[in-house]
Amino acid sequence: MAAVKRTIYRALYGSRYDRVPWGQRIYVRPGERLAREVQWRLRLRRAELLTLAEYRERTDLGEIEEFVVCHLCGDSRQQPLFRPTGPKGRWSYQVVRCPGCGFLYRNPNIRPERLGDLYANGYSAFLTGKYAADRRRRYRLTMDSFHPVFAQGGGRRLLDFGCGAGLFLELAEQRGFDAAGVDLSPDSVAEANRRLARARAYHGTPEDVPEIAVGGFDVITLWSVLAHLPRPLDDFRRFRSLLAPGGVLMILTVNAASLQLKAHGSAWNGFTKNHLMFYSAETMPTLLRRTGFAGVAFTPFYGDTVEAGTTKLSEPLQRRLRRKVEASDGGNMLRALAFADDEAIDRWGGGLKVRRLPKYEG
Ligand SMILES: [Zn+2]
Repeated sequence: MAAVKRTIYRALYGSRYDRVPWGQRIYVRPGERLAREVQWRLRLRRAELLTLAEYRERTDLGEIEEFVVCHLCGDSRQQPLFRPTGPKGRWSYQVVRCPGCGFLYRNPNIRPERLGDLYANGYSAFLTGKYAADRRRRYRLTMDSFHPVFAQGGGRRLLDFGCGAGLFLELAEQRGFDAAGVDLSPDSVAEANRRLARARAYHGTPEDVPEIAVGGFDVITLWSVLAHLPRPLDDFRRFRSLLAPGGVLMILTVNAASLQLKAHGSAWNGFTKNHLMFYSAETMPTLLRRTGFAGVAFTPFYGDTVEAGTTKLSEPLQRRLRRKVEASDGGNMLRALAFADDEAIDRWGGGLKVRRLPKYEG
């Protein structure tokens, strides 16, 4: 099958795009977007639509798992789409789509009280190992995309939720934020506090820590954390209440509307071992609206090497990639700035395309 595809692409395009990495090729090859959208539509049309009872009957349930319904709209119907599987089959889970609102989530999901099991050992090594330089670069590029919020801390209070080993807290304190973090992994928190000068990391949830539970934060950051949350509505209500008037919540997560997901299916790089839920610019506003946020702005993600200027892609292809990302999926990662209230929109929304969220009655 792969050989057939290669032959077709070679006939269509020659060898022009052979050296463009896969993640970029999908945005620069003419016709690719249309082909992937058609592929996606066909996949949705072919997928079964089951009641929750039917779905439970045919699906195995692990010891730390539970069946859930769509957290965003409450629809219990299940459209099984993907089965991501780790190297050598070490892990595997089922991803379903909500036919009501299009939300993608793992089902069965992890029982919240067992979430710590996923992060008990070895996670801090993953966070600080050879990927540390890439992560720092990604923090800087995303902070730049929401420039005024992160340019200078000026003593503003910042909470990094899921702070890991403190790589971002370190940047935040260097920029003058009064920064604190929480994380479920005790190893990571210990590592973070060795690294930090003034900022502090705490083990547990915000309500476990009196210094954090008092709230009054100007900025809360969720770096690659949202996809790990089994009860996002509860968490986001808490974030909203921890924010000071004029406060903002910054989110970086994998983008479930990505053309790469549509192309790779179960092999998409956003389906990692511990990810539970997959948001897009269509579904995330529902979560924010239901938890009391007043607005949201998304900035496109062109890929780390393009944004950092280290890509080998030619100038014309870079321009094409940027245009495509803006006109199609917004990129393989989703970057969002959520505004607590109108004051936050006035203060930080300049230069961004802010989408105001109507008050939720429910
Ligand atoms: Zn739904």
